[in-house]
Amino acid sequence: MAASKQRDEIEAYLHMLLEVDRYEDYGPNGLQIEGRAGLRRIVSGVTASLALIDAAIADGADAIVVHHGLFWRGQDGRLVGWLGERVRRLMTHGINLYAYHLPLDAHPEFGNNAQLGLRLGLQADARFGKQALGFAAAAGDNTSLPVLAARVQAAVGGRPPLVLPGDGRPLARIGWCTGGAQGYFEAAIAAGVDAFITGEASEPQAHLARETGVAFVACGHHASECFGAPALAAHVAQRFGLEHRSIDIANPA
Ligand SMILES: [Zn+2]
Repeated sequence: MAASKQRDEIEAYLHMLLEVDRYEDYGPNGLQIEGRAGLRRIVSGVTASLALIDAAIADGADAIVVHHGLFWRGQDGRLVGWLGERVRRLMTHGINLYAYHLPLDAHPEFGNNAQLGLRLGLQADARFGKQALGFAAAAGDNTSLPVLAARVQAAVGGRPPLVLPGDGRPLARIGWCTGGAQGYFEAAIAAGVDAFITGEASEPQAHLARETGVAFVACGHHASECFGAPALAAHVAQRFGLEHRSIDIANPA
């Protein structure tokens, strides 16, 4: 493939693969910063932070694939301060930035939910919530809340999750949705799960867990979304003959 077309062919391929047009999102999905046309090496990470951009520059990357890009609804459009600095550094170094938010949460193979499910031994057989972003699966035999919490902790590299217990029932169905999806808890309850896993917790979820009996497990926004972008980038690298390295910029939130 001609190098001059590679940047755009990758975007077109990801647009199709992730079914970008199906989702209503908080920011643009796809190529957010246009860098050089020919690609040899890509870096993946959760968020297009300055630390990830600098690590990609040091790594000699031609492109970065992330879950959290630079542009979100509600921004005023100015490229100044920290946002200006991120953009300037990418453009100065000719690095392409590909960002996929909800389409990457949702993808049944490379998405954050699918990849977290893989590490929890959960194979989704149902979807729930707005834009069907929530995943649900059978828990498997003899799954208690402590067992599930331990599995979640192991899946995200040892960080202990925040566990809001329900009524202590045995867990037959598990629901999950990565990132800041605490607002999906009610939809998960309506979908009939006995426990729900996401990245973040807010105050109301503790009461909902107590009053509905459905347990809530928050394992960290970043921690729950570490796996999608690297899985997607590895696939792209293989398909387009590129080198790939995933870089985790630690984030306790
Ligand atoms: Zn997120």
